[in-house]
Amino acid sequence: MKNYTEGKNIVVIGSGIGGLSAGIILALFNFKVTVVEKNPFPGGLMRSYCRSGFDCSVGVHYVGALGNNEPLGKMFQVLGIPVDDLFSSMGQEGIIDRYIFDDLIFDLPDAGIDALEDNLRSTFCRDEAALNIIMKNLRDISRRMMEPSFLLNQGDPFQNIDYYRPVGELLNSLQVSPGLRAVLSMPCQLTGVPLNDCPIIFHHIVLVSYLLSSWKPKENGRKMTEVFVRRFEELGGMLVLSNGVKKISLIDGKVGEVILESGEKLPSDVVVAAIHPKIMLQLLDENVLRDTYRRRIRGLKETEGVIVVNASVNAAAHPEIDHNIYRLSTDENGFIEDGFFYQLRNGNSPSSNLLSIITKSLYSEWSPWENTSTGKRGNEYEEKKMNIADSLLKKTKGIFGNLKDASIIDVFTPLTVRDFVNAPEGACYGAMRSSRQLLKIASLNNLPVPGLCIAGQNAVAPGVMGCLLGSFNAARQIVGVERFNKEIERSLSL
Ligand SMILES: Cc1cc2nc3c(=O)[nH]c(=O)nc-3n(C[C@H](O)[C@H](O)[C@H](O)COP(=O)(O)OP(=O)(O)OC[C@H]3O[C@@H](n4cnc5c(N)ncnc54)[C@H](O)[C@@H]3O)c2cc1C
Repeated sequence: MKNYTEGKNIVVIGSGIGGLSAGIILALFNFKVTVVEKNPFPGGLMRSYCRSGFDCSVGVHYVGALGNNEPLGKMFQVLGIPVDDLFSSMGQEGIIDRYIFDDLIFDLPDAGIDALEDNLRSTFCRDEAALNIIMKNLRDISRRMMEPSFLLNQGDPFQNIDYYRPVGELLNSLQVSPGLRAVLSMPCQLTGVPLNDCPIIFHHIVLVSYLLSSWKPKENGRKMTEVFVRRFEELGGMLVLSNGVKKISLIDGKVGEVILESGEKLPSDVVVAAIHPKIMLQLLDENVLRDTYRRRIRGLKETEGVIVVNASVNAAAHPEIDHNIYRLSTDENGFIEDGFFYQLRNGNSPSSNLLSIITKSLYSEWSPWENTSTGKRGNEYEEKKMNIADSLLKKTKGIFGNLKDASIIDVFTPLTVRDFVNAPEGACYGAMRSSRQLLKIASLNNLPVPGLCIAGQNAVAPGVMGCLLGSFNAARQIVGVERFNKEIERSLSL
């Protein structure tokens, strides 16, 4: 953001984890912060919802690097959000993820990079030379993530241009075996970016964070949201609900006020858009950004959408599993063709547990209902959704055997996500941070509108950790690097 301002009124658009964490940091720096949310309740994708007595997660199934001295843990510490109240550490069985392929089962171990290296070397003996390089890169990123500069210096460890190459290209140049390619594709699969377009940096950051430590929500995303909101409000922040932002107005060439759906105007010296950049664009007058800039944002490709099935199952027959399970099919070169994520968690009663299934779903698949809204899509849509859900439940047989007392309690599609949080095409991880689009997306961090900056998953990196990095980044721009770094160092006793 150019010419950061000393102004006191900040409006944050969107109350997802990106918006709320930006609100908390800025309130910590004594700004007068208002977070504005279009929905009647805060949290965006972080929030869970309740169906048939079960708390179903939307966008937080597991996160990495929340330990004491780890990057996400440190960011929670700065925010003043207690990790142990909200998350429990995974890996009680020594495993974070189990990848089940047709001819191989591979476990992502809980015990860190050395344990991963042991597993990879014993499973893929013929990939010794490639693994030497891959493990060296992973250790380099891990070291950088643990250094204070990861939180303090904009661009670190993102300054190594070699890491912007697609990880698929690196694996091709190392002539890895199909099996190793398949296993190492998983962080790309997770964040909805194809292997051949996923920058090494994001692949490595995602993988390393889970290896540092992995965590599941202890209760649910609703509680998580409540804790974030409480912290924001105790610092003097104001939360406006059910009143989306309709327009960001400029006064004398810089951000001056936001106009809400209700017509109310909020004076604002700075606006932090913790929403999708395409939605931000709709809030600005046409002449605020050059045509080329607008086209660049409009043309951004989105990450993949998903269909999510939540089903209750008999708790005695299907006890909670501490790790996640992925069922994956690949082609003969190890490129993943199909992937299914399973999480089996304790339900809200002793007799039933909750099975969540997630798999890719193209936005185009739902095009007949593109112009409808949630709850008003009609029977054919409901039928299609339920047919897919039924077939996804049947597919679990190879993993869980015959499911006992299985009953579908909710299904959501990319259209649901689109309408819920204003995510174009229902993208789970926002605009695609692919090697091809990196420069376009990087320009979002320096919006040519004085007083306007971006936070949330579209600012720096995807996922929960990416959102917090984005909030730190926005606050650093607003507060000024020196003051920001001094305060963060003080708060972390660095
Ligand atoms: C199915 C699924 C599973 C996922 N699993 C994981 C996971 O296990 N681990 C992980 O790290 N990440 C996961 N993610 C990604 C993670 O949920 C997101 O990265 C993160 O929650 C995004 O937060 P955000 O604040 O950037 O955006 P959002 O949560 O989308 O928040 C944006 C908010 O802005 C509001 N808004 C939009 N337009 C306006 C407007 N004009 N005025 C006012 N308010 C507005 C929206 O209603 C919303 O509340 C998953 C995502 C999905 C969809």
